[in-house]
Amino acid sequence: MAPLKTEEIDRIAERVVSLLKKDTTASNTFSGGNGIFSSVDSAVNAAAKAQKEFVRLPLEERKKIIANIRKEMLAKAEELAKMAWEETGMGRWEDKIEKNRLVINKTPGTEILKPDAYSGDHGLSIMELAPYGVIGSITPSTNPTSTIICNTIGMIAAGNSVVFNAHPNAKNVSIYNIQLLNKIIIESGGPENVVTTIKDPTIQTATELMSHPGIGLLVVTGGEGVVKAAMESGKRAICAGPGNPPVVVDETANIENAAECIVKGASLDNNIICVLEKEIFVVDPVADQLLEALSKNNAIILSDEQINKLDKLLFTELNGPGKPGVINKSYIGKNIQVILKAIGMEIPPEIRLAVAPVKEDHPLVWTEQLLPVIPLVRVPDANYGIDIAVKAEHGFRHTAVMHSKNIDNLSRMAREINCSIFVKNGPSVAGIGFGGEGFCSFSIASPTGEGITNPRSFSRERRCVLVDHFRIV
Ligand code: NAD
Repeated sequence: MAPLKTEEIDRIAERVVSLLKKDTTASNTFSGGNGIFSSVDSAVNAAAKAQKEFVRLPLEERKKIIANIRKEMLAKAEELAKMAWEETGMGRWEDKIEKNRLVINKTPGTEILKPDAYSGDHGLSIMELAPYGVIGSITPSTNPTSTIICNTIGMIAAGNSVVFNAHPNAKNVSIYNIQLLNKIIIESGGPENVVTTIKDPTIQTATELMSHPGIGLLVVTGGEGVVKAAMESGKRAICAGPGNPPVVVDETANIENAAECIVKGASLDNNIICVLEKEIFVVDPVADQLLEALSKNNAIILSDEQINKLDKLLFTELNGPGKPGVINKSYIGKNIQVILKAIGMEIPPEIRLAVAPVKEDHPLVWTEQLLPVIPLVRVPDANYGIDIAVKAEHGFRHTAVMHSKNIDNLSRMAREINCSIFVKNGPSVAGIGFGGEGFCSFSIASPTGEGITNPRSFSRERRCVLVDHFRIV
Protein backbone atom coordinates (compact mmCIF):
# COMPACT_ATOMS: atom_id res chain seq x y z
CA MET A 1 0.00 0.00 0.00
CA ALA A 2 1.30 3.47 -0.94
CA PRO A 3 2.07 5.72 2.07
CA LEU A 4 -0.56 8.38 2.79
CA LYS A 5 0.11 11.93 1.62
CA THR A 6 0.19 14.71 4.26
CA GLU A 7 -2.97 16.14 2.70
CA GLU A 8 -4.81 12.81 3.15
CA ILE A 9 -3.64 12.50 6.77
CA ASP A 10 -4.94 16.04 7.47
CA ARG A 11 -8.33 15.14 5.97
CA ILE A 12 -8.60 11.96 8.10
CA ALA A 13 -7.64 13.92 11.24
CA GLU A 14 -10.30 16.52 10.43
CA ARG A 15 -12.94 13.83 9.99
CA VAL A 16 -12.07 12.20 13.33
CA VAL A 17 -12.16 15.54 15.16
CA SER A 18 -15.47 16.38 13.52
CA LEU A 19 -17.00 12.98 14.40
CA LEU A 20 -15.87 13.35 17.99
CA LYS A 21 -17.53 16.75 18.12
CA LYS A 22 -20.73 15.29 16.69
CA ASP A 23 -20.73 12.62 19.42
CA THR A 24 -20.45 15.31 22.07
CA THR A 25 -23.52 17.02 20.66
CA ALA A 26 -25.43 13.75 20.46
CA SER A 27 -24.96 13.17 24.19
CA ASN A 28 -25.65 16.93 24.49
CA THR A 29 -24.89 18.34 27.89
CA PHE A 30 -27.34 21.11 27.01
CA SER A 31 -30.70 19.81 28.16
CA GLY A 32 -34.26 20.92 27.58
CA GLY A 33 -35.70 23.30 25.06
CA ASN A 34 -33.09 22.49 22.47
CA GLY A 35 -35.62 22.76 19.68
CA ILE A 36 -35.53 19.20 18.34
CA PHE A 37 -38.90 17.42 18.05
CA SER A 38 -40.04 14.08 16.71
CA SER A 39 -43.19 15.40 15.02
CA VAL A 40 -44.28 18.49 13.11
CA ASP A 41 -47.14 19.01 15.53
CA SER A 42 -44.96 19.03 18.65
CA ALA A 43 -42.41 21.36 16.98
CA VAL A 44 -45.12 23.84 15.91
CA ASN A 45 -46.80 23.77 19.34
CA ALA A 46 -43.53 24.39 21.15
CA ALA A 47 -42.61 27.19 18.73
CA ALA A 48 -46.05 28.77 19.19
CA LYS A 49 -45.65 28.80 22.98
CA ALA A 50 -42.13 30.23 22.61
CA GLN A 51 -43.25 32.96 20.22
CA LYS A 52 -45.86 34.26 22.69
CA GLU A 53 -43.16 34.68 25.34
CA PHE A 54 -40.51 35.92 22.91
CA VAL A 55 -42.61 38.70 21.45
CA ARG A 56 -43.29 40.07 24.94
CA LEU A 57 -39.59 40.60 25.62
CA PRO A 58 -38.45 44.23 25.43
CA LEU A 59 -36.98 45.13 22.02
CA GLU A 60 -33.62 45.72 23.68
CA GLU A 61 -33.64 42.05 24.77
CA ARG A 62 -34.38 40.94 21.22
CA LYS A 63 -31.44 43.04 19.99
CA LYS A 64 -29.18 41.53 22.64
CA ILE A 65 -30.19 38.00 21.59
CA ILE A 66 -29.34 38.74 17.96
CA ALA A 67 -26.03 40.35 18.93
CA ASN A 68 -25.15 37.22 20.93
CA ILE A 69 -26.14 34.96 18.02
CA ARG A 70 -23.72 36.89 15.81
CA LYS A 71 -20.92 36.69 18.38
CA GLU A 72 -21.32 33.02 19.32
CA MET A 73 -22.05 31.71 15.83
CA LEU A 74 -18.90 33.37 14.45
CA ALA A 75 -16.93 31.10 16.73
CA LYS A 76 -18.81 28.10 15.25
CA ALA A 77 -18.58 29.14 11.58
CA GLU A 78 -15.72 26.80 10.78
CA GLU A 79 -17.03 23.79 12.67
CA LEU A 80 -20.44 24.09 11.01
CA ALA A 81 -18.84 24.53 7.59
CA LYS A 82 -16.83 21.34 7.96
CA MET A 83 -19.84 19.39 9.26
CA ALA A 84 -22.02 20.58 6.34
CA TRP A 85 -19.31 19.64 3.85
CA GLU A 86 -18.85 16.19 5.38
CA GLU A 87 -22.55 15.42 5.57
CA THR A 88 -23.63 16.67 2.15
CA GLY A 89 -20.42 15.86 0.25
CA MET A 90 -20.88 19.12 -1.67
CA GLY A 91 -18.87 22.31 -1.99
CA ARG A 92 -15.64 23.43 -0.32
CA TRP A 93 -15.56 23.69 3.47
CA GLU A 94 -13.28 26.74 3.41
CA ASP A 95 -15.84 28.55 1.21
CA LYS A 96 -18.65 27.46 3.51
CA ILE A 97 -16.86 29.24 6.37
CA GLU A 98 -17.06 32.47 4.33
CA LYS A 99 -20.77 31.86 3.65
CA ASN A 100 -21.43 31.36 7.36
CA ARG A 101 -19.48 34.51 8.28
CA LEU A 102 -21.32 36.49 5.63
CA VAL A 103 -24.79 35.67 6.97
CA ILE A 104 -23.70 36.09 10.58
CA ASN A 105 -22.27 39.57 9.92
CA LYS A 106 -24.55 40.93 7.21
CA THR A 107 -28.08 39.58 7.76
CA PRO A 108 -30.06 42.58 9.01
CA GLY A 109 -31.59 42.54 12.49
CA THR A 110 -34.19 44.72 14.21
CA GLU A 111 -32.59 47.94 12.89
CA ILE A 112 -34.27 47.41 9.51
CA LEU A 113 -37.77 47.42 11.06
CA LYS A 114 -38.40 51.16 11.03
CA PRO A 115 -41.99 52.29 11.54
CA ASP A 116 -43.65 54.70 9.09
CA ALA A 117 -45.94 57.56 10.06
CA TYR A 118 -48.57 59.71 8.29
CA SER A 119 -49.34 63.04 9.84
CA GLY A 120 -52.03 65.46 8.56
CA ASP A 121 -55.24 67.36 9.23
CA HIS A 122 -56.85 64.21 10.58
CA GLY A 123 -54.19 63.36 13.09
CA LEU A 124 -51.53 60.68 13.08
CA SER A 125 -51.28 57.13 11.73
CA ILE A 126 -48.39 54.86 12.49
CA MET A 127 -47.41 51.80 10.46
CA GLU A 128 -45.56 49.11 12.38
CA LEU A 129 -44.07 45.78 11.40
CA ALA A 130 -45.52 42.88 13.37
CA PRO A 131 -44.59 39.19 13.44
CA TYR A 132 -46.58 36.50 11.63
CA GLY A 133 -46.21 34.16 14.62
CA VAL A 134 -44.68 30.80 13.77
CA ILE A 135 -42.88 30.55 10.43
CA GLY A 136 -42.37 27.20 8.68
CA SER A 137 -39.03 27.27 6.87
CA ILE A 138 -37.86 24.60 4.42
CA THR A 139 -34.12 24.73 3.75
CA PRO A 140 -31.79 23.37 1.04
CA SER A 141 -28.87 20.96 1.08
CA THR A 142 -26.65 23.38 -0.81
CA ASN A 143 -26.41 26.05 1.94
CA PRO A 144 -27.74 24.23 5.00
CA THR A 145 -26.09 26.21 7.80
CA SER A 146 -25.97 29.62 6.15
CA THR A 147 -29.69 29.46 5.30
CA ILE A 148 -30.68 28.41 8.83
CA ILE A 149 -28.56 31.11 10.49
CA CYS A 150 -29.74 33.78 8.03
CA ASN A 151 -33.43 32.81 8.32
CA THR A 152 -33.18 32.66 12.12
CA ILE A 153 -31.70 36.17 12.47
CA GLY A 154 -34.22 37.67 10.03
CA MET A 155 -37.27 35.84 11.38
CA ILE A 156 -36.65 36.38 15.08
CA ALA A 157 -35.66 40.03 14.51
CA ALA A 158 -39.27 40.47 13.40
CA GLY A 159 -40.55 38.68 16.53
CA ASN A 160 -41.40 35.32 14.99
CA SER A 161 -40.45 31.84 16.07
CA VAL A 162 -39.58 29.24 13.45
CA VAL A 163 -39.93 25.54 12.67
CA PHE A 164 -37.28 24.33 10.23
CA ASN A 165 -37.68 21.35 7.95
CA ALA A 166 -34.09 20.85 6.81
CA HIS A 167 -33.02 18.90 3.75
CA PRO A 168 -32.79 15.21 4.75
CA ASN A 169 -29.19 15.08 3.43
CA ALA A 170 -28.15 17.86 5.80
CA LYS A 171 -30.21 16.93 8.85
CA ASN A 172 -27.38 16.27 11.35
CA VAL A 173 -25.61 19.57 10.81
CA SER A 174 -28.97 21.35 10.81
CA ILE A 175 -29.96 19.78 14.13
CA TYR A 176 -26.62 20.76 15.65
CA ASN A 177 -26.99 24.29 14.26
CA ILE A 178 -30.49 24.64 15.73
CA GLN A 179 -29.36 23.31 19.12
CA LEU A 180 -26.64 25.94 19.17
CA LEU A 181 -29.06 28.72 18.26
CA ASN A 182 -31.48 27.68 21.01
CA LYS A 183 -28.68 27.53 23.54
CA ILE A 184 -27.61 31.08 22.67
CA ILE A 185 -31.19 32.39 22.82
CA ILE A 186 -31.84 30.80 26.22
CA GLU A 187 -28.50 31.92 27.66
CA SER A 188 -29.30 35.44 26.46
CA GLY A 189 -32.56 35.47 28.42
CA GLY A 190 -35.00 34.30 25.72
CA PRO A 191 -37.47 31.40 25.99
CA GLU A 192 -36.73 27.86 24.86
CA ASN A 193 -37.80 26.61 21.42
CA VAL A 194 -37.87 29.91 19.56
CA VAL A 195 -36.07 27.93 16.85
CA THR A 196 -37.22 24.35 16.38
CA THR A 197 -36.89 21.51 13.91
CA ILE A 198 -38.10 18.04 13.13
CA LYS A 199 -35.63 15.31 14.07
CA ASP A 200 -36.10 13.30 10.89
CA PRO A 201 -37.11 15.75 8.18
CA THR A 202 -38.58 14.32 4.97
CA ILE A 203 -40.70 15.60 2.08
CA GLN A 204 -43.66 14.21 4.06
CA THR A 205 -42.86 16.36 7.12
CA ALA A 206 -42.30 19.37 4.81
CA THR A 207 -45.77 18.78 3.36
CA GLU A 208 -47.26 18.51 6.86
CA LEU A 209 -45.57 21.77 7.83
CA MET A 210 -47.04 23.47 4.75
CA SER A 211 -50.57 22.60 5.84
CA HIS A 212 -50.23 22.93 9.62
CA PRO A 213 -52.81 25.40 11.00
CA GLY A 214 -50.25 26.77 13.48
CA ILE A 215 -47.99 28.09 10.70
CA GLY A 216 -48.58 31.74 9.79
CA LEU A 217 -46.06 32.05 6.98
CA LEU A 218 -44.05 29.64 4.84
CA VAL A 219 -40.55 30.41 3.65
CA VAL A 220 -39.10 27.84 1.27
CA THR A 221 -35.61 27.83 -0.21
CA GLY A 222 -34.90 25.21 -2.85
CA GLY A 223 -35.66 23.96 -6.33
CA GLU A 224 -38.78 24.12 -8.48
CA GLY A 225 -40.55 21.22 -6.69
CA VAL A 226 -40.65 22.79 -3.25
CA VAL A 227 -41.58 26.21 -4.68
CA LYS A 228 -44.54 24.70 -6.55
CA ALA A 229 -45.67 22.77 -3.44
CA ALA A 230 -45.50 25.91 -1.26
CA MET A 231 -47.41 28.00 -3.78
CA GLU A 232 -50.14 25.37 -3.92
CA SER A 233 -50.34 25.08 -0.12
CA GLY A 234 -52.93 27.81 0.28
CA LYS A 235 -50.72 29.60 2.83
CA ARG A 236 -48.87 32.86 2.38
CA ALA A 237 -45.51 31.69 1.04
CA ILE A 238 -42.19 33.38 0.39
CA CYS A 239 -40.48 31.24 -2.22
CA ALA A 240 -36.74 31.36 -2.92
CA GLY A 241 -36.40 29.20 -6.01
CA PRO A 242 -33.79 28.13 -8.55
CA GLY A 243 -31.75 30.39 -10.82
CA ASN A 244 -29.51 30.07 -13.85
CA PRO A 245 -27.58 33.35 -13.69
CA PRO A 246 -26.02 34.44 -16.99
CA VAL A 247 -22.99 36.70 -17.25
CA VAL A 248 -22.63 38.87 -20.35
CA VAL A 249 -19.23 40.36 -21.25
CA ASP A 250 -19.04 43.03 -23.96
CA GLU A 251 -16.10 44.62 -25.79
CA THR A 252 -15.98 47.63 -23.42
CA ALA A 253 -15.47 45.49 -20.30
CA ASN A 254 -12.31 45.35 -18.24
CA ILE A 255 -11.54 41.80 -19.36
CA GLU A 256 -8.98 41.06 -16.64
CA ASN A 257 -11.47 42.10 -13.97
CA ALA A 258 -14.30 40.18 -15.67
CA ALA A 259 -12.22 36.98 -15.69
CA GLU A 260 -11.22 37.36 -12.06
CA CYS A 261 -14.83 38.02 -11.00
CA ILE A 262 -16.24 35.12 -13.02
CA VAL A 263 -13.83 32.63 -11.45
CA LYS A 264 -14.44 34.08 -7.99
CA GLY A 265 -18.22 33.78 -8.37
CA ALA A 266 -18.66 30.61 -10.40
CA SER A 267 -16.20 28.56 -8.36
CA LEU A 268 -17.37 29.61 -4.89
CA ASP A 269 -18.42 26.50 -2.95
CA ASN A 270 -18.11 24.68 -6.31
CA ASN A 271 -20.97 26.71 -7.81
CA ILE A 272 -23.79 25.27 -5.67
CA ILE A 273 -25.12 28.69 -4.65
CA CYS A 274 -28.19 29.88 -6.60
CA VAL A 275 -26.84 33.40 -7.34
CA LEU A 276 -23.55 32.30 -8.91
CA GLU A 277 -22.62 32.67 -12.60
CA LYS A 278 -23.85 29.59 -14.48
CA GLU A 279 -23.14 30.53 -18.14
CA ILE A 280 -21.00 33.12 -19.94
CA PHE A 281 -21.96 35.06 -23.10
CA VAL A 282 -19.00 36.99 -24.49
CA VAL A 283 -18.88 39.14 -27.62
CA ASP A 284 -16.69 37.54 -30.25
CA PRO A 285 -14.02 40.30 -30.57
CA VAL A 286 -12.94 39.84 -26.91
CA ALA A 287 -13.72 36.12 -26.48
CA ASP A 288 -10.11 34.91 -26.92
CA GLN A 289 -8.86 37.61 -24.57
CA LEU A 290 -11.40 36.53 -21.93
CA LEU A 291 -10.47 32.85 -22.31
CA GLU A 292 -6.81 33.72 -21.83
CA ALA A 293 -7.59 35.85 -18.77
CA LEU A 294 -9.78 33.07 -17.30
CA SER A 295 -6.94 30.58 -17.67
CA LYS A 296 -4.64 32.98 -15.80
CA ASN A 297 -7.15 33.03 -12.93
CA ASN A 298 -7.21 29.35 -11.97
CA ALA A 299 -9.66 28.22 -14.65
CA ILE A 300 -8.94 25.49 -17.18
CA ILE A 301 -10.29 25.75 -20.74
CA LEU A 302 -11.70 22.49 -22.09
CA SER A 303 -11.39 21.13 -25.64
CA ASP A 304 -14.35 19.88 -27.72
CA GLU A 305 -13.30 16.29 -27.08
CA GLN A 306 -13.15 16.83 -23.31
CA ILE A 307 -16.57 18.57 -23.37
CA ASN A 308 -18.07 15.57 -25.25
CA LYS A 309 -16.77 13.24 -22.57
CA LEU A 310 -18.11 15.55 -19.82
CA ASP A 311 -21.58 15.62 -21.41
CA LYS A 312 -21.79 11.84 -21.04
CA LEU A 313 -20.54 12.04 -17.47
CA LEU A 314 -22.50 14.99 -16.12
CA PHE A 315 -25.97 14.45 -17.61
CA THR A 316 -28.22 11.54 -16.69
CA GLU A 317 -30.86 12.88 -19.05
CA LEU A 318 -30.59 15.11 -22.11
CA ASN A 319 -33.70 16.72 -23.52
CA GLY A 320 -32.25 18.02 -26.76
CA PRO A 321 -30.52 21.24 -27.83
CA GLY A 322 -31.54 24.45 -26.09
CA LYS A 323 -33.26 22.56 -23.25
CA PRO A 324 -32.22 21.85 -19.65
CA GLY A 325 -30.95 18.34 -18.96
CA VAL A 326 -30.74 16.45 -15.68
CA ILE A 327 -27.40 16.57 -13.86
CA ASN A 328 -25.88 13.44 -12.36
CA LYS A 329 -26.28 14.08 -8.61
CA SER A 330 -22.99 12.42 -7.75
CA TYR A 331 -21.09 15.31 -9.40
CA ILE A 332 -23.09 18.20 -7.93
CA GLY A 333 -20.80 20.43 -5.85
CA LYS A 334 -17.70 18.31 -6.41
CA ASN A 335 -14.22 19.81 -6.84
CA ILE A 336 -13.19 20.22 -10.48
CA GLN A 337 -10.30 17.81 -9.88
CA VAL A 338 -12.79 15.04 -9.05
CA ILE A 339 -14.98 15.77 -12.07
CA LEU A 340 -12.14 15.94 -14.58
CA LYS A 341 -10.41 12.88 -13.13
CA ALA A 342 -13.51 10.91 -14.14
CA ILE A 343 -12.72 11.75 -17.78
CA GLY A 344 -9.05 10.93 -17.36
CA MET A 345 -7.65 14.42 -16.67
CA GLU A 346 -5.25 15.24 -13.83
CA ILE A 347 -5.17 18.97 -13.05
CA PRO A 348 -3.29 21.02 -10.44
CA PRO A 349 -5.02 21.56 -7.07
CA GLU A 350 -5.20 25.36 -7.49
CA ILE A 351 -7.62 25.06 -10.46
CA ARG A 352 -11.13 25.98 -9.26
CA LEU A 353 -13.21 26.08 -12.44
CA ALA A 354 -13.43 24.52 -15.92
CA VAL A 355 -14.67 26.63 -18.83
CA ALA A 356 -16.42 24.85 -21.70
CA PRO A 357 -16.56 26.85 -24.96
CA VAL A 358 -19.82 25.66 -26.56
CA LYS A 359 -22.56 26.67 -29.00
CA GLU A 360 -25.55 28.51 -27.54
CA ASP A 361 -27.88 25.48 -27.69
CA HIS A 362 -25.58 23.29 -25.60
CA PRO A 363 -27.50 21.82 -22.60
CA LEU A 364 -24.95 23.15 -20.09
CA VAL A 365 -26.11 26.66 -21.00
CA TRP A 366 -29.75 25.82 -20.21
CA THR A 367 -29.21 23.70 -17.08
CA GLU A 368 -28.61 24.92 -13.53
CA GLN A 369 -25.55 22.70 -13.24
CA LEU A 370 -24.51 23.43 -9.61
CA LEU A 371 -20.93 22.30 -10.28
CA PRO A 372 -17.70 24.07 -11.28
CA VAL A 373 -17.95 23.66 -15.06
CA ILE A 374 -19.22 26.80 -16.78
CA PRO A 375 -20.18 27.00 -20.47
CA LEU A 376 -18.92 29.96 -22.54
CA VAL A 377 -20.76 31.06 -25.69
CA ARG A 378 -19.40 33.52 -28.28
CA VAL A 379 -22.04 36.02 -29.40
CA PRO A 380 -21.80 38.53 -32.28
CA ASP A 381 -22.65 41.62 -30.18
CA ALA A 382 -23.93 42.80 -26.79
CA ASN A 383 -27.59 42.99 -27.84
CA TYR A 384 -27.51 39.37 -29.02
CA GLY A 385 -25.78 38.40 -25.75
CA ILE A 386 -28.48 40.15 -23.69
CA ASP A 387 -31.30 38.51 -25.65
CA ILE A 388 -29.89 35.02 -25.26
CA ALA A 389 -29.05 35.66 -21.58
CA VAL A 390 -32.70 36.54 -20.94
CA LYS A 391 -33.75 33.22 -22.51
CA ALA A 392 -31.12 31.17 -20.64
CA GLU A 393 -32.29 32.70 -17.34
CA HIS A 394 -35.64 30.96 -17.99
CA GLY A 395 -37.67 33.84 -16.55
CA PHE A 396 -36.66 32.88 -13.00
CA ARG A 397 -35.87 36.61 -12.49
CA HIS A 398 -33.23 35.54 -9.97
CA THR A 399 -29.72 36.92 -10.68
CA ALA A 400 -27.75 38.21 -13.67
CA VAL A 401 -24.34 39.78 -14.20
CA MET A 402 -22.84 42.05 -16.85
CA HIS A 403 -19.30 43.27 -17.44
CA SER A 404 -19.38 46.44 -19.54
CA LYS A 405 -18.63 50.14 -19.44
CA ASN A 406 -21.34 50.95 -21.97
CA ILE A 407 -24.23 52.45 -19.99
CA ASP A 408 -26.73 51.74 -22.79
CA ASN A 409 -25.85 48.05 -22.72
CA LEU A 410 -25.87 47.90 -18.91
CA SER A 411 -29.24 49.65 -18.73
CA ARG A 412 -30.77 47.49 -21.44
CA MET A 413 -29.66 44.28 -19.74
CA ALA A 414 -30.89 45.47 -16.32
CA ARG A 415 -34.33 46.21 -17.76
CA GLU A 416 -34.71 43.17 -20.00
CA ILE A 417 -33.49 40.52 -17.59
CA ASN A 418 -35.64 41.94 -14.78
CA CYS A 419 -33.96 39.98 -11.98
CA SER A 420 -34.02 40.30 -8.17
CA ILE A 421 -30.24 40.84 -8.36
CA PHE A 422 -28.28 42.48 -11.20
CA VAL A 423 -24.53 42.87 -10.68
CA LYS A 424 -22.45 45.20 -12.87
CA ASN A 425 -18.67 44.72 -13.17
CA GLY A 426 -18.32 42.45 -10.16
CA PRO A 427 -18.77 38.84 -9.09
CA SER A 428 -22.35 37.59 -8.68
CA VAL A 429 -21.88 37.26 -4.91
CA ALA A 430 -21.42 41.03 -4.65
CA GLY A 431 -25.22 40.98 -5.05
CA ILE A 432 -25.59 39.32 -1.64
CA GLY A 433 -23.14 41.64 0.07
CA PHE A 434 -19.95 39.56 -0.48
CA GLY A 435 -17.66 42.24 -1.85
CA GLY A 436 -20.63 44.48 -2.69
CA GLU A 437 -22.66 46.97 -0.68
CA GLY A 438 -25.90 46.03 0.99
CA PHE A 439 -27.14 43.32 3.31
CA CYS A 440 -27.05 39.59 2.84
CA SER A 441 -29.64 36.87 2.49
CA PHE A 442 -29.48 33.23 1.47
CA SER A 443 -33.19 33.17 0.61
CA ILE A 444 -33.66 35.22 -2.56
CA ALA A 445 -37.35 35.12 -3.25
CA SER A 446 -37.74 35.79 -6.97
CA PRO A 447 -40.95 33.84 -7.75
CA THR A 448 -42.90 35.65 -5.02
CA GLY A 449 -41.12 38.99 -5.38
CA GLU A 450 -39.62 39.70 -1.95
CA GLY A 451 -36.14 39.52 -3.50
CA ILE A 452 -33.31 39.53 -0.96
CA THR A 453 -35.38 38.59 2.08
CA ASN A 454 -34.84 40.36 5.41
CA PRO A 455 -36.82 40.97 8.63
CA ARG A 456 -39.29 43.21 6.74
CA SER A 457 -40.19 40.27 4.49
CA PHE A 458 -41.04 38.25 7.61
CA SER A 459 -43.32 40.96 9.05
CA ARG A 460 -46.97 41.94 8.70
CA GLU A 461 -47.74 45.61 8.22
CA ARG A 462 -50.15 47.03 10.80
CA ARG A 463 -51.59 50.53 11.01
CA CYS A 464 -52.76 52.35 14.14
CA VAL A 465 -54.72 55.57 13.63
CA LEU A 466 -55.38 58.39 16.11
CA VAL A 467 -58.00 60.66 14.58
CA ASP A 468 -57.62 64.45 14.78
CA HIS A 469 -54.84 64.50 17.41
CA PHE A 470 -51.09 64.20 17.94
CA ARG A 471 -50.04 66.17 14.88
CA ILE A 472 -47.50 68.51 16.46
CA VAL A 473 -47.22 71.21 13.78
P1 NAD B 1 -34.35 20.81 -3.18
O1 NAD B 1 -35.44 21.49 -3.90
O2 NAD B 1 -34.01 19.42 -3.52
O3 NAD B 1 -34.65 20.83 -1.61
C1 NAD B 1 -34.95 22.01 -0.90
C2 NAD B 1 -35.84 21.67 0.28
O4 NAD B 1 -37.16 21.41 -0.19
C3 NAD B 1 -35.42 20.44 1.04
O5 NAD B 1 -35.63 20.66 2.42
C4 NAD B 1 -36.34 19.36 0.50
O6 NAD B 1 -36.54 18.33 1.42
C5 NAD B 1 -37.62 20.14 0.24
N1 NAD B 1 -38.46 19.64 -0.86
C6 NAD B 1 -38.05 19.31 -2.10
N2 NAD B 1 -39.13 18.99 -2.86
C7 NAD B 1 -40.22 19.13 -2.08
C8 NAD B 1 -41.63 18.95 -2.28
N3 NAD B 1 -42.13 18.57 -3.44
N4 NAD B 1 -42.47 19.20 -1.24
C9 NAD B 1 -41.98 19.63 -0.04
N5 NAD B 1 -40.65 19.80 0.20
C10 NAD B 1 -39.79 19.56 -0.79
O7 NAD B 1 -33.08 21.76 -3.34
P2 NAD B 1 -31.54 21.53 -2.98
O8 NAD B 1 -30.94 20.59 -3.96
O9 NAD B 1 -31.37 21.26 -1.55
O10 NAD B 1 -31.03 23.01 -3.29
C11 NAD B 1 -30.67 23.45 -4.56
C12 NAD B 1 -31.76 24.22 -5.25
O11 NAD B 1 -32.25 25.25 -4.43
C13 NAD B 1 -31.24 24.90 -6.51
O12 NAD B 1 -32.20 24.88 -7.50
C14 NAD B 1 -30.96 26.32 -6.02
O13 NAD B 1 -30.96 27.30 -7.03
C15 NAD B 1 -32.11 26.52 -5.07
N6 NAD B 1 -31.77 27.53 -4.06
C16 NAD B 1 -32.35 28.75 -4.18
C17 NAD B 1 -32.02 29.74 -3.26
C18 NAD B 1 -32.60 31.11 -3.36
O14 NAD B 1 -32.31 31.93 -2.49
N7 NAD B 1 -33.40 31.43 -4.34
C19 NAD B 1 -31.12 29.48 -2.23
C20 NAD B 1 -30.57 28.20 -2.14
C21 NAD B 1 -30.91 27.23 -3.07
